[in-house]
Amino acid sequence: MAKEVGLIYSDDFAKYNFGTEHPLRPVRVELTYSLMKHYGLLDHENLQVIPPRMATDDEIGQVHSRDYVDVIKKYSVLGTYSGIPREPFFYGLGPGDNPIFRGMYEASALVAGASIMAAETVMNQTNGIHYCFNPAGGLHHALRAKASGFCIFNDIAVAIAYIKKKYPGTKIMYVDIDVHHGDGVQWIFYDDPDVLKVDFHESGEFLFPGTGFTDEIGEGRGRGFQVNFPLLPKFYDDLYLNLFTRTVPELAKAFRPDVVVTQLGVDTHFNDPLASLALSTSGQEKIIREIHKVVKNYAHDRWVPLGGGGYLMTVVPRSWTMCLAELLGVNLPNKIPEAWVKEAATQVPEEVTPTLLRDYNAKIEGVLLRDAEFLIDREQHVERLVKYVHETILPIIEGKS
Ligand SMILES: [Zn+2]
Repeated sequence: MAKEVGLIYSDDFAKYNFGTEHPLRPVRVELTYSLMKHYGLLDHENLQVIPPRMATDDEIGQVHSRDYVDVIKKYSVLGTYSGIPREPFFYGLGPGDNPIFRGMYEASALVAGASIMAAETVMNQTNGIHYCFNPAGGLHHALRAKASGFCIFNDIAVAIAYIKKKYPGTKIMYVDIDVHHGDGVQWIFYDDPDVLKVDFHESGEFLFPGTGFTDEIGEGRGRGFQVNFPLLPKFYDDLYLNLFTRTVPELAKAFRPDVVVTQLGVDTHFNDPLASLALSTSGQEKIIREIHKVVKNYAHDRWVPLGGGGYLMTVVPRSWTMCLAELLGVNLPNKIPEAWVKEAATQVPEEVTPTLLRDYNAKIEGVLLRDAEFLIDREQHVERLVKYVHETILPIIEGKS
C-alpha cells in the first residue's frame, strides 16, 4: 500500500502577515498551494488535506513563557505600540523584523497548532499518514520570551515539545536547511539529548542571527546533540550535497531517531534577496530527496516537514511543491502548468516569472572559472566539516545512544 501523506493547509495562514513592506509575504504560501493544485497533487489518492487548529496556551506554554504569551495577546488586540513604553521591544516586537499587527496571537497560534497537528498525525499514524507537511511552519528563530527574525511563536519547538510530552521517550532528529541558523530551536533544546539538532546555514560571520558555529555543540546531557554546519557564501548544489550525504545519514544511523522533523527554508536559493548561498531549486529538490532516504532508512519512515524562510515568491512554491511530490512519490514534469505561470505573473510582477520547476545556478560556473581559490576554499571547508562530525560529534552520540 502506498504511504498516506498529509498536508496541513488553511487560507487563514495568510493572516500571519507583518504588512506590505515585510519580506515574509503570505502570497508565498498561497502560490505554493496553488502550484500543488495545478500540478494535480491535491487530488492525489494518497494525499489528505487537513485544516489546522490553533495551539492552546498550554501547548505554547511548554516552550514560551507565560509573560511572553500574555504580551503577544495584549499587542495582538491593540495592534499597535501603545502600552507600556519599551515593553514591546523588550520582547522582540518592533518595527523592522517583527512589527506588531492586529491578530498576531491568533495567526501565530494557528501556525503552531498546524505544526502540532502535523506532528500528532505522523506520531499517531492517523489514517495511515507517515509524512505530514505544514508549509506555513518553520518559525525557527523565536526564543522562549522573545520574537525574533519574523518568528513570534516557535512552532517547531512547540511541536517537538508536544511530541516529547505526549510520547515520552521519543527520539527526535531535527534537520534545518534554512539559510539562517535555527537559533531558537538550538537554545530551547540545547541540553536535550533526545533531540538531535542538525543545522545547515550560511555562517553567522556573514548573516543573521550570527550564531551556529561548530563549537556550539550542546550542553550538559545534550552535549554532542547540536550539530552546526556554518557555510561560506556562494556554497552551491554539489558542495552542499557532498557535505550533506557524508554527514546526515551517519548522524541518523548513530542516533536512531523515531521521527524526523525538518525546517525546509529555501532562502538558500542563489537569487534570494536576504542571503548569499547559491543553491538552485534542483539542488533543493535533491536535498529533500536525501532527507527522505534518511527518514526511510533510519527513522521508521516518519517525517514532519515544515516550511521556513524563502523570500522569492516564485522559488518557495516550486521547491515546496517538489517536496510534496517527493512525499507522494510523484515525478513532476519540469514545465510548470500555464495557469500557475499566469497567476504568478499577476501576483508577483516584480519577479521574473519562471516557467520551469527546476533551475540551475549558471553564475557559479563563471565564478569557478575565474576564481580557482574559491573552489579550493570551499572544498577544504567541506572536508573540515565532515571531519568535525566524525571526530567531535559522532563519538559522543555513539557513546550515549
Ligand atoms: Zn531563513
